[in-house]
Amino acid sequence: MPPLEILARDAGSRARAGILRTAHGEIRTPAFVPLATKATVRGLVPAEVAALGFDIVLGNTFHLFLDPGHELIRSFGGLHEFMGWRGPIVTDSGGFQVFSMGHGTVADEVKGRSAFGSERHGRVLAIEEDGVTFRSYIDGSERFMAPETSMAIQAALGSDLALVFDECTPFHVDRDYTARSTERTHRWLDRCLDWHDANGPAEQLVYGIVQGGVLEDLRVESAQTIAASRCDGIAIGGSLGAEKEQMYEVVGWTTAALPEERPRHLLGIGEIDDLVRGVELGIDSFDCAMPTRLGRHGMALVPDPEKRWRVDLAKARWRHSDEPLLEGCPCAACAQGWTRGYWHYLTRNRELTGQRMLTLHNLAFVQRVVARLRDGLLSGDLAGVAAAIRGGATP
Ligand SMILES: [Zn+2]
Repeated sequence: MPPLEILARDAGSRARAGILRTAHGEIRTPAFVPLATKATVRGLVPAEVAALGFDIVLGNTFHLFLDPGHELIRSFGGLHEFMGWRGPIVTDSGGFQVFSMGHGTVADEVKGRSAFGSERHGRVLAIEEDGVTFRSYIDGSERFMAPETSMAIQAALGSDLALVFDECTPFHVDRDYTARSTERTHRWLDRCLDWHDANGPAEQLVYGIVQGGVLEDLRVESAQTIAASRCDGIAIGGSLGAEKEQMYEVVGWTTAALPEERPRHLLGIGEIDDLVRGVELGIDSFDCAMPTRLGRHGMALVPDPEKRWRVDLAKARWRHSDEPLLEGCPCAACAQGWTRGYWHYLTRNRELTGQRMLTLHNLAFVQRVVARLRDGLLSGDLAGVAAAIRGGATP
């Protein structure tokens, strides 16, 4: 039986709602996946994450490989047991982190920051057909990651969804580089699937990753190649462009070329407007650092499209404000009845309580957005829900 059951489709877009079945339970889609990068959703315990309505979290292969090591986690019975999250877990492949060390991120490139290369950030020493040699950002030791290594780590972690190891193509490269890089990703896909067939946990679902940069023919070709493989699901990765409209275009080319029946994950994207558009383009799941990272830096999500759904509580203008963070917000943080003045004070002093509770509020906000989109799909009114969210309705 295919892992994804589609329950409803939107007549006006490619959106669908469904249930994705894994060894550790069901994921209601569309779904947002909070990051548990280093085996914890920072500041929260698993029961709180589950109570917010999230079905799945994402662990990071690269970071857990370096610290504490996948063999140690295996000795504790795998990542679920180690961190006490008994629901579904997806692990990324480490490809993004490994290649980010060499190229910097798209944001780095767009802003003209050079690629890393300091000991502090680690360093890529060699990218070869066999795999990538890099220097650990933790202790400077030389490490190697190949497609097979990534799959072996993810097998040891025991995640429910594993992502294949890909070459994350940088943004500012020419067509020839992008084409060669995408072809390597396809060869690495075969190696990942071969390793998994021979050694991987039978119940672990494997997602291939579509690359191809921002070039339509390469994206479509990559989508078709991944779809023709025996992977269980399909993730969309790599550089999606410098601006939102370009990103939507790239995602649109990709989902148009994908088969309906397999689940689709959009890697590293999750701003509020991106979630709405991503769902319309036929994405089933998203992961993004945004809500948790913002929460640790004093930024709260509020229904204000003009300000990218954010309010910066560190701003002095809130010092005397007796406004609530968000009127009527049902989350546990807002239930404290705190004023923006108090949030400002907590933020300015980097109080753990503020960081933790703001993480909770932001995740609750994102989850309500995604839940409303799903409800809209199931009730046949996605267009109405999408318009309301875009217009600044409180989810
Ligand atoms: Zn709240």
